Amino acid sequence: TEEFIRTSEKLSVAGQLAAGIAHEIRNPLTAIKGFIQLLQFELDEKKPYLHIIESEIQRIELILGELLVLAKPQATKFTKSDIGVLLQHVTTLLETQGILHNIQIITKIDPSLPLIECDENGLKQVFINFLKNAMEAMKSGGHIFIEAQKKDEYSVLIRFIDEGCGIPKEQLEKIGKPFFTTKEKGTGLGIMISKKIIEDHGGTMSIMSEENKGTTVEVTLPIRVSASSVLHNSLLSG
Ligand code: ADP
Ligand code: MG
Repeated sequence: TEEFIRTSEKLSVAGQLAAGIAHEIRNPLTAIKGFIQLLQFELDEKKPYLHIIESEIQRIELILGELLVLAKPQATKFTKSDIGVLLQHVTTLLETQGILHNIQIITKIDPSLPLIECDENGLKQVFINFLKNAMEAMKSGGHIFIEAQKKDEYSVLIRFIDEGCGIPKEQLEKIGKPFFTTKEKGTGLGIMISKKIIEDHGGTMSIMSEENKGTTVEVTLPIRVSASSVLHNSLLSG
């Protein structure tokens, strides 16, 4: 049945995660251990080593922080919310950072957008992830368009359109796999977590991209979360 398929999909993601986590945590820890050993011999020159130790620990914290969202034990709370307001709020949050990088964020929210049943905190995190990715892809500035409109009687459509570096074709299928990142300071968890949150809402997402032109992330969310989807989530989260 559909429920069974969805559950086993989640288990396999959990399995992939376990293997990935072990690998990702071991690398920075090995570095930390090595530099601590060196410190014992080079007490005079210890400053740069301490700096490396500190940044490796920060990296572990960043990764574990993102993973915590997946391990969140409590059932998510769905309330009827105005995602136009939510999108505006997230835009305001990142606007100043955008201006510093010559990036202008332009929102086009359909005024007749219906309220939707959602986990506001979850969606806020999704929107921040997509907006941050768009900004990080635009090293020399440009525009980001955020569009939200009613798609049909049952769902809404949200688009994040950027004028950034785009994604090479051969990388597209890897996007959203745990720990896939092309960034020096990336975690490669943003898209995977966002996708999970969207699917918990009974929604879908897709990425369209053209190298050196830009990327569009499209999200469809149902206006009402189906009873089976809510039940499914609360069962999974214990
Ligand atoms: P992270 O941002 O930590 O790298 P994500 O899961 O958010 O992890 O993104 C994974 C990868 O997908 C990024 O490293 C980048 O290569 C690619 N990507 C995601 N969004 C965009 C975008 N808007 N433009 C270009 N590349 C993107
Ligand atoms: Mg990201």
